[in-house]
Amino acid sequence: MVEAAYQGTALEVDRAFYRGIAGGEREKVDDFEIPIRSGRAWEVPAGHVCRLVTVDGPQVGDLNVWNRRNPRERLWASRTRQLQRAHVSTFDRLWSTLPYLRPLLTVTSDTLADHGPDSDGGRVHDLLGTRCDPYVNRMLTGEDFDYHCHSNLVRAVAPYGLTEFDVHDVLNVFQCTGLTADDRYFMKACPARPGDHFEFFAEQDLLCALSTCPGGDLSVPLWGPDARDPIDVCHPIGVEVYAVDSALLAGWRQPDVAAYAGGHGLTAPEWDSTTTECHDPAGHDGY
Ligand SMILES: [Zn+2]
Repeated sequence: MVEAAYQGTALEVDRAFYRGIAGGEREKVDDFEIPIRSGRAWEVPAGHVCRLVTVDGPQVGDLNVWNRRNPRERLWASRTRQLQRAHVSTFDRLWSTLPYLRPLLTVTSDTLADHGPDSDGGRVHDLLGTRCDPYVNRMLTGEDFDYHCHSNLVRAVAPYGLTEFDVHDVLNVFQCTGLTADDRYFMKACPARPGDHFEFFAEQDLLCALSTCPGGDLSVPLWGPDARDPIDVCHPIGVEVYAVDSALLAGWRQPDVAAYAGGHGLTAPEWDSTTTECHDPAGHDGY
């Protein structure tokens, strides 16, 4: 058995703390539904909890997350795959891009936590794939469609002054995916039932955006003789934001940005060919 490549105390999570958040007192401060084939952005203040709910049937959602104060800090899907897992669930974190590299959120509750791996190796809440978009769609089908997740997210973030260039690789919430025996990406029908949820704790002030995928629960083939418009398998997704009891937050603080100072060797060392040491003009010890 090969150990996970990434280990260390920085990856440890205080499970008792997050269990307390998941099960403790809370007050709902925001509650809305995202209709089919649309997107919406909303804020989740640091120390609050956000719950995504499949309100009346299975539906895949494409989630983007930014630091509300600085949109250059946003979800880093590929590194999160490595630091956590390719499919996330309770106690996993979503990590932010460089040079920030800190948790944006921690998953606190997931009613689909026990789903998978299924008989095909499928798991839910996918970081392997990304959002559907009109560019790839046009390339593969020759047709234009303006309500892919990428476009839904573009419209969703516009009121916050963000653009298409801010939309990034997503967490595919409620989406069941995996890799085939020959290492190709597959998607399966979403297993969520009405009332299933995926809930997370905001480690910093967040801007979130979610698209209700136009593929709905992804039970209708995208290609081949059975392909058709899957609008009948599309459902809304509910969003709830909660303030948690302040007593539950005792001892918690927002994570610090990465400790590395960002030198990148841009300040040239003064090489001294007469010794085996180099001298860093910044005054650090030779190394
Ligand atoms: Zn989509």
